[in-house]
Amino acid sequence: MIVILKPESSAAAVAELTEALAKEGVTLNPVCGAELTVLCLVGDTSRVDPNRVAANRAVERVLAVTEPFRMAGRSFQPAPTVVEVSGRSIGASKIAVIAGPCCVETEEQIVRVALAVKAAGASFLRGGAFKPRVSPYAFQGLQREGLRLLALAGRTADLPVVSEIMSPRDIELFADSVEIIQVGARNMQNYDLLKELSRLTKPVLLKRGSAATIEEWLLAAEYLLAGGNRQVILCERGVRTFETYTRNTLDLSAVLAVKKMSHLPVVVDPSHAAGKWWMTAPLAKAAAAVGADGLMIEVHDDPARALCDGQQSIQPDGFRALMDELRPIAQAVGREL
Ligand code: PEP
Ligand code: MN
Repeated sequence: MIVILKPESSAAAVAELTEALAKEGVTLNPVCGAELTVLCLVGDTSRVDPNRVAANRAVERVLAVTEPFRMAGRSFQPAPTVVEVSGRSIGASKIAVIAGPCCVETEEQIVRVALAVKAAGASFLRGGAFKPRVSPYAFQGLQREGLRLLALAGRTADLPVVSEIMSPRDIELFADSVEIIQVGARNMQNYDLLKELSRLTKPVLLKRGSAATIEEWLLAAEYLLAGGNRQVILCERGVRTFETYTRNTLDLSAVLAVKKMSHLPVVVDPSHAAGKWWMTAPLAKAAAAVGADGLMIEVHDDPARALCDGQQSIQPDGFRALMDELRPIAQAVGREL
């Protein structure tokens, strides 16, 4: 961090600031020019709040030279994180495919889809039970019963399950029912929820908030890591832009950026990004080509009757075709499926 001081700052103000910064556990290297004094802070500056430094009246400007996240960064851990879940891994050479309906509707529906995606080669089953719907009148999910049915379908198809949590009060229930806990885009910045999840050893799939910068997303991941949970998977699911043709704009460059900055695995969800079923397969293939560690795909066997997100769900035969098309792409980028 570089702190540029105001030329007119008094020696006393500078001394006071220097003393305060020294208490933050960083080393200070002052550079005194004819007109400007610059303080170079070296060491672990992740706990120094740049806004608090900028609030000091002796300070002209603060420049961050390192990322504000520490544990999520590549310098903290150069080797990629591989999350191991029930004999499957996310972040290793095999591209992990998480597939299933937006929400669990009935036992028959979730078991049918689970068996279909398993047969096509998926490695995880997804299904929402607590749904963050925009309208309070929309189907809110089967809640506790939904998690029970999802776990049953997962056991039937021999697939670990992923489901979204919305409230810290459901942590125990999720810890007992699912193999991976999903934090949805709407809760990426629910810091109380992240702090509670950081105490678990269960993997957390952290979706990017629809208006979150990559840095904010990685800082949300930092909450999980800093609290002790090292099993963090990131998920790019599109961000809101001026474009209205698609539900969100899939930010594939974020996959590259995150993989450069962080050791955490990144999954891409083209279903929630595009919001259109016919865009799912091409975007999934693009995500695999760009180096995503996994894909999250919404699959429903009767999309027109789906209780949520039928418009963006592909059917089991489309999913099977997608898996076949993904194989050579995975191979071309040095991965498997
Ligand atoms: C979901 O995966 O069901 C979901 C609600 O996604 P997102 O949080 O990305 O909107
Ligand atoms: Mn959905």
